[in-house]
Amino acid sequence: MSRPLQVRINLSALQNNLAVARQHAPNSRIMAVIKANGYGHGVLRVARALANADGFAVIELNDAVALREAGLQQKILLLNGFYDVEELPVIAAHNLAVVIHDQEQLGMLAAVSLPKKLEVFLKLNTGMNRLGFRPEAANAVLAQLKKHRLVGGITLMTHFAFADVKEGIAEQMERFNKFAAGVNLPKSLANSAALLRYPESHAEWVRPGIMLYGSSPYGDVSAGELGLQPVMTLASRLIAMHELQPGERVGYTGVFTAEKRMKIGIVACGYADGYPRHARTGTPVNVNGKITRTLGRISMDTLCVDLSEISDAAVGTPVILWGEGNPIEEVARAAGTVGYELFTKLNPRVPVIETHD
Ligand SMILES: *Cc1c(COP(=O)(O)O)cnc(C)c1O
Repeated sequence: MSRPLQVRINLSALQNNLAVARQHAPNSRIMAVIKANGYGHGVLRVARALANADGFAVIELNDAVALREAGLQQKILLLNGFYDVEELPVIAAHNLAVVIHDQEQLGMLAAVSLPKKLEVFLKLNTGMNRLGFRPEAANAVLAQLKKHRLVGGITLMTHFAFADVKEGIAEQMERFNKFAAGVNLPKSLANSAALLRYPESHAEWVRPGIMLYGSSPYGDVSAGELGLQPVMTLASRLIAMHELQPGERVGYTGVFTAEKRMKIGIVACGYADGYPRHARTGTPVNVNGKITRTLGRISMDTLCVDLSEISDAAVGTPVILWGEGNPIEEVARAAGTVGYELFTKLNPRVPVIETHD
């Protein structure tokens, strides 16, 4: 038998989660965010499974080109636009839309000739203070874009910094709407957290990412409560078992000490697979359908679990590190991170199996 660790990608769950997005935003077009290799799920795999999305958003030009070469006809948006003049002919040739967020990009546009016009998303900085023009500066940029020889359609866009927490979107919405009020152009604002909670943010295009992969964007509402199904399940098996005596310790530097006689199991999964090394003792793990906890340090290729309450465990017993039966949000919380990071750090050495459950 080969190493039992594998990642299962449930394509039906992707479709379910897209349907949840549609139910919440029935009058908007959906731009599925599939940057970072589809949040670690495989960019082409996800795009094909979500073929009835209205568009796709990526960061990487080579991913956008691969989507076109795979025959996808939808709108494809480069979320950070372009970084270099040399990208522009490739962008035009593949009919990609670009975010314009900085004056430098306008300079690059002035320096090329292209066989056709580009579709652009003008990004406003309404409070995230990451990418985008401040509303005060955006008027002049919009005027420039409107008469630009290389610019076709224009969509106004912004990104929320607090949609997933109590502060919400009101302040950023107000700044955006003030700018957009007199401007008759399509708009795109909502990420997953805004899509699910704030209908007033929906407009022409919504941009869900994390929810499509079945993870809740909120700390206080579970994916299940939102009707989302986990797409990625990281699954392995027990490859060894031991009985510890009181006072015996587990793993590197012995950070866990047994207080009583106890059974432990060793799982084929470690930080070289993308499991977070900072997961503390107590991180939830599903063993044979029951939630138990990790013990001690995570190693490169293995981790240790508590079998005290899992009486039927044996070598070969199935283990779910995250996904179905073990929400990734809770694993992430115990490791001081978010599901987004766990998804995107999955190591390519883990074999992928597609399912349609
Ligand atoms: C990543 C990203 C999204 C998707 O965000 P989620 O929280 O995953 O829904 C939307 N818009 C922009 C600009 C992004 O960078």
